[in-house]
Amino acid sequence: MIPGRFKPKDADSFTYPMIMELLEFLAGVPTFDAEQDELFSLHAYLIAAFGDIPAISMILRMKGHNGIFPCRMCLIKGVRVPNTRNTSHYVPLYRANHPVVLAGDNAEVAVYASANLPLRTHEQFLDQARHVQLAPTSAEEQHRAKACGIKGIPLLSHLPSLFFPSSFPFDFMHLIWENLLPNLVLLWTGKFKGLDEGHESYELGPGVWEAIGEVTKASGSTIPAAYATARPQNVAEDGSACTADSWSFWALYLGPVLLKGCFQKEIYYKHFVKLIKLLRLCLQFEITSEECSEIREGFQDWVETFEKSVMEFHCSSIDGTDSHSIRIYYQNSPDRVSTCPLTIHALLHIADGIEAMGPVWAYWAFLMERFCGKLLRCIKSRRHPFANIDSYIMAVGQLDQIRNRYNAHDQLALLPPKGANSREFAFAECTYPHACSNRVVTEFSIDRSNVGPMFSTPKNPDYPRQPSLENHRHIDYSLQHNAHHH
Ligand SMILES: [Zn+2]
Repeated sequence: MIPGRFKPKDADSFTYPMIMELLEFLAGVPTFDAEQDELFSLHAYLIAAFGDIPAISMILRMKGHNGIFPCRMCLIKGVRVPNTRNTSHYVPLYRANHPVVLAGDNAEVAVYASANLPLRTHEQFLDQARHVQLAPTSAEEQHRAKACGIKGIPLLSHLPSLFFPSSFPFDFMHLIWENLLPNLVLLWTGKFKGLDEGHESYELGPGVWEAIGEVTKASGSTIPAAYATARPQNVAEDGSACTADSWSFWALYLGPVLLKGCFQKEIYYKHFVKLIKLLRLCLQFEITSEECSEIREGFQDWVETFEKSVMEFHCSSIDGTDSHSIRIYYQNSPDRVSTCPLTIHALLHIADGIEAMGPVWAYWAFLMERFCGKLLRCIKSRRHPFANIDSYIMAVGQLDQIRNRYNAHDQLALLPPKGANSREFAFAECTYPHACSNRVVTEFSIDRSNVGPMFSTPKNPDYPRQPSLENHRHIDYSLQHNAHHH
């Protein structure tokens, strides 16, 4: 499916063909097994969907990240910046001194507990969606949608393999590298939504960030190529042009070194390093349940420190910083509530995502973005761009089949030859579980006559008929049951 230049007006009309196809896969699609020379029933189940926050809000039919209930994982209520025309809602944990709460006769939550957020559940999500959709008038519909952040029943809910919202974990790439990191830098450089540093002093001195940018760029000459796909950019000069990959590299490898001693108070630096430690945990190939708890509690603590106001007790600090006045960015001040967008709150749901869907690399957008980049480059014809994409995908699919069937991964790698010494510095590759093949052909030279039969339509008279969509009504939805255990 290829969208136009703009976001689809009706996302469901856009996903409809895919959902129809997935319903067929649920019933089983007759497929030819070239290895066994027979037909089998091919099943496929969609179990996760990812994208940036606006994209997922769209396919979940949610009102979006500026709405009153902006979070797809929980029912935290957003608050606005008081006395402004800014209609965006922000989601700090603490809002006891916000005018809405002060005027609300205890109806409004004053403080959300980071460890006990009002999580959305599958049944509740779909009940709310139905409640909105079945509203008798459009005014009532709007009213109901406002009260839960959901605009109607998402078409994807017809797939029994998906759970709302747990099949839609936050995408680490957008959340961390394209939002959190650049926003922190904006705060440090006094450029975040026109806010000053309030009662704190977390802004870097004049020229400091520019110097860090230059050193970052210069570091490229001494960093082995295996560490990054591109040379580090000057993060101060072309910050907005920096890719997710370059922010990731900067934060994980350079930031903790370059920022040391740059802040007026050690606590700001420590808070940043704590974040990097948590991100490193999230980026592990495998994550134990103990580590997942560490991630959960770590982010709770990090977000609270990000927001916090004056701690009520004095304590002598170990490192000489003023630990009784840790209140970094939000400072529990209603006027500064815009420092708490959904992308800060969403950190509290990273551990939920890992528990439901696995390590962050299993559903992050890097792969998709790279694939889209490849697709763009395969377009050679201005008149027939879509046909170009089609034939490219087909050719890639065919090559994959040949590679797998004949174990010809090296012969068909089709990668540009590596530089003479790039292997020397290369990291050991992670090994994924291999797609099983019970007949491995080790020695094979590619020959058209071997390849041909794989793609011809079998002329078998017993070839089963395509299942009609009417049959889906009778499908045993035991998958839903199994997925719970999964
Ligand atoms: Zn939430």
